Amino acid sequence: MYLKSLEISGFKSFAKKATLNFTSPISSIVGPNGSGKSNVAEAFRFVLGEQSIKSMRGKRGEDLIFNGGGEGARVNRAGVKVIFDNRKRMLNVDFDEVTLERVVHRDNSNEYFINGSPVRLKDIVELLAHAHIGASGHHIISQGEADRILNANIRERREMIEDALGLKIYQYKKLESQRKLEKTEENMKSVESLRREIAPHLKFLKKQVEKVEKVQELREELRKLYKEYLKREETYLKLERAKIEVEKVPLVEELARLDIEIADARKILEGSKNRDAKSDELINLESVLHKIRMEKDAVMREAGKIDGEIYAGQRTIVKEKEKQTKDEFKTIYLKDVEEVVNRVSLLESLAEIKQMLFGFISSHKNKEDSALIAEVERELAELKNKKNESEKTLKTLDESERSRTLEYNELRQRIEREKDSNRDAEKNVFRIIARQNEVRGVLNGIKNIESRLVIEEDSFKREMQEAYVIVGREAVDYADLILIEEDRIKQHDRIKLIEKIKIRIEDSGAGNNIDILKEYKEVEDRDAFLERELVDLESSRTNLNNMIADLDARIDIEFKEGILKINAQFQQYFSLMFGGGNAGLNVIREKKRKKKADTDLSSVLSDDADIADIADATEEEGEEGIEINVSLPRKKVKGLMMLSGGERALTSIALLFAISQVNPPPFIILDETDAALDEANSRKYGDMIANLSTYSQLILITHNRETMSRAGVLYGVTMGGDGASKLLSIQFEEAVQVAK
Ligand code: ATP
Repeated sequence: MYLKSLEISGFKSFAKKATLNFTSPISSIVGPNGSGKSNVAEAFRFVLGEQSIKSMRGKRGEDLIFNGGGEGARVNRAGVKVIFDNRKRMLNVDFDEVTLERVVHRDNSNEYFINGSPVRLKDIVELLAHAHIGASGHHIISQGEADRILNANIRERREMIEDALGLKIYQYKKLESQRKLEKTEENMKSVESLRREIAPHLKFLKKQVEKVEKVQELREELRKLYKEYLKREETYLKLERAKIEVEKVPLVEELARLDIEIADARKILEGSKNRDAKSDELINLESVLHKIRMEKDAVMREAGKIDGEIYAGQRTIVKEKEKQTKDEFKTIYLKDVEEVVNRVSLLESLAEIKQMLFGFISSHKNKEDSALIAEVERELAELKNKKNESEKTLKTLDESERSRTLEYNELRQRIEREKDSNRDAEKNVFRIIARQNEVRGVLNGIKNIESRLVIEEDSFKREMQEAYVIVGREAVDYADLILIEEDRIKQHDRIKLIEKIKIRIEDSGAGNNIDILKEYKEVEDRDAFLERELVDLESSRTNLNNMIADLDARIDIEFKEGILKINAQFQQYFSLMFGGGNAGLNVIREKKRKKKADTDLSSVLSDDADIADIADATEEEGEEGIEINVSLPRKKVKGLMMLSGGERALTSIALLFAISQVNPPPFIILDETDAALDEANSRKYGDMIANLSTYSQLILITHNRETMSRAGVLYGVTMGGDGASKLLSIQFEEAVQVAK
């Protein structure tokens, strides 16, 4: 037994709390009409989560709340609590006892509780679906609803049977899977549309990235080219510069030297202006010399004459002296000599001595000759003096001539020399100017080369800066590069290529590389993520489809198996009820006959028209459902339409019991299902109940004595003057009384 008790308070006619304990497999609720018995069945529906107020005979939630009676005041909430014994874990929660509670307020709001904790309706529905009880109420047969299954169409029947067979949980799962599938497909669509949305951007970015990559390749190429170009250019420029310096320096030095030389030469030429003065001086010197020489000639002539006179005088003297030589052996008195000697001792100088001696001698000589000689000698002395004079003069003149000649020669030489050096200077000036022109010409050539070199050096610097800007530091990091010599023309080709690549890089228009690569990566990642998401969604779609297919298959199999089992039970109960006959359920597919919309009447009427074709074309496959076939014993009539009210009740009871027995719910509530039965059939009904109660706990609302007699617990419901139902546990005899 699973159902322990039901507690009703404020629900419909149950103004005050009323508790029903279901301690027996069969409990009966009895009472006069309108006392509130059916409200108990509805209290079950309510607490199990029924959402159709109509099925609880109300219009609004408020209708379910005790509305007051004659003396009874209305209440504001209706609450029903059902308690299950869950020791067998009929409900999928880990409690031995489970209390479900639902409360409705006048504002139509509902509250649900499991074991006192507020929950959602969904939680209640799910919990009960597992236990094969639900609000759909296949196990709660309300008053007058016994033949509902007979009145229902084939599809409704199928649903009822599915529910009763416990396939609702699969249906529920299927529904959930379908909802998930829908959601998944929605998600797929939105992911697909997101991918479609980003696709053009991604494509654009991809192209950009390709461009960027191409530019990176170009940059790499440019980097290599630049490195080689710069290295070669630097080497070339250094060499050229050195070559120029080597050529230029001696030339510049030479030019400086030439400047000095030409200045010197010019100075010499400048000096030639004094030459006239020097010539005048030379002429003057010449005339001075001439004068000196004339004088000298005169003096010499005079001296010659003196010499002649001297010679003549000397001859005279010689002759005279020869005459005198005879006087040399003349005797002189001693006393004269002694006198002389005495005088000598008195004289002071040799000259005086000489003079005195001569005097002595002459005084002893021949007087006449001696006078002549003396005369001549005096003349000679005079002449000698003269000669001495002229010799002195000559000497002076010689001296003068010699020095003047020296002077003259020097001057002349100087003039000559000057003449020579002027010529040289002139020559030099011409030579120097020619050389200067030559050197300047060479220097100009070098300067031209140098200016070209400066331009080349400038463009080298520019290229270096540009290389740094375009391809970065690495391009100028060429110091360690080792290169083989090559023709200079190749370097020109190289720079042309560099220019071309630069233009290509510029033309590529690839903007900020890092940003584009980053954005591409982001968008690509996002796309990849979406793609993965799509794959995941696709696989969950497949899973869900599989699950739905599995569920369909399971429902189908279990349904068909269930039908077979139900049929066996149905046949048994039916023949028990009717003492024979046949009853069974048939799974059929509805055939819908429709007029073919586009059927042309003329074609139908024409002779060629194939009638069979037309008939086929208008038939459509419909839904699958359940058909009930019955044939009563000893009666020729077949089909549900032909049954009497009682027969319908019996048939539906047989079917309900058959269904219930195949997949017994924990409890079944039957509200006056037995109302239409005569006494004989009531007994049979009683037997069936007894049998059914071994599978499911039964709560029977009845006026039937037979049915009451089968119950282990009896509740009587009465209604007092306050319009509120009252509940009392009673004995069978009392029940019979109450029922009356
Ligand atoms: P019968 O044997 O004739 O089928 P019953 O015992 O099944 O009768 P119910 O149909 O359960 O009787 O009870 C109906 C009674 O409940 C009516 O008298 C009705 O006035 C009362 N009732 C229904 N709803 C409310 C409500 N919201 N407030 C007060 N009374 C209510």
